[in-house]
Amino acid sequence: MRKQIAAANWKMNLSLTEATTLAEQFLQEMTPAKNHQLIVFAVPFPYLTAIQQIVADTPQVFVAAQDCSAHAKGAYTGDTSVAMLQSIGVQYALVGHSERREYQLESNELLAQKVNQCLAAGITPIFCCGEPSNVREEEKQAGYVTHQLKESLFHLSADELQKVVIAYEPIWAIGTGKTATSEQAQDMHAHIREALQIQYGAEVAQSISILYGGSVKAANANEIFSRSDVDGGLVGGASLVATEFAAIAQALR
Ligand code: PEP
Repeated sequence: MRKQIAAANWKMNLSLTEATTLAEQFLQEMTPAKNHQLIVFAVPFPYLTAIQQIVADTPQVFVAAQDCSAHAKGAYTGDTSVAMLQSIGVQYALVGHSERREYQLESNELLAQKVNQCLAAGITPIFCCGEPSNVREEEKQAGYVTHQLKESLFHLSADELQKVVIAYEPIWAIGTGKTATSEQAQDMHAHIREALQIQYGAEVAQSISILYGGSVKAANANEIFSRSDVDGGLVGGASLVATEFAAIAQALR
């Protein structure tokens, strides 16, 4: 069975005290994860170690970085390399979140380098893709997302690709309260899986976890996660409330 994943994206929120309290509250609220389920907290860099220590004894719960450098090391002030993440035991990193694509002008080519860096360091990239509203209005979202996958992932071997998690996050649904319908999510996830199948074959395509992101909350998680090609969610706003995120994690199949 594919891994079912609830990933929290705290973005640039919370003080250290608020962050540790939130993680502790979540652990108290959560139902133990099953073997094929994972909970991942993408937390601000300064809190990685603190949150990692809090979740260390809870099976199937991990931390993720929200980004990593496209370079291995050197004169890149302010950046964080995968070797640094690896050296503190971080096993996951978000790559290509739409906010970084927009505000840091991250291109598909740059994201391919970040994916390569992650895989070389044994870190699982959670690769984010998804279309803006004007592309959805023109009904060109399938081609748009395929292009993102081609330019950032399809240079990988099948073995490498199987170490990647994909998060489909339509930009018009992120932080807007406007969730994609479960049909829209399922349609795009099926499309992504078909694109993976054309490139890598059915066995590989069936093994990749594809998460949905965009205003997931406790009230809609069950419906969205019930769809056959949706393997969990990447959750922003609702992950900042322990009871909400615990309910979302419980909605995993
Ligand atoms: C996100 O930041 O990845 C996200 C999906 O945010 P939200 O859940 O707030 O829409």
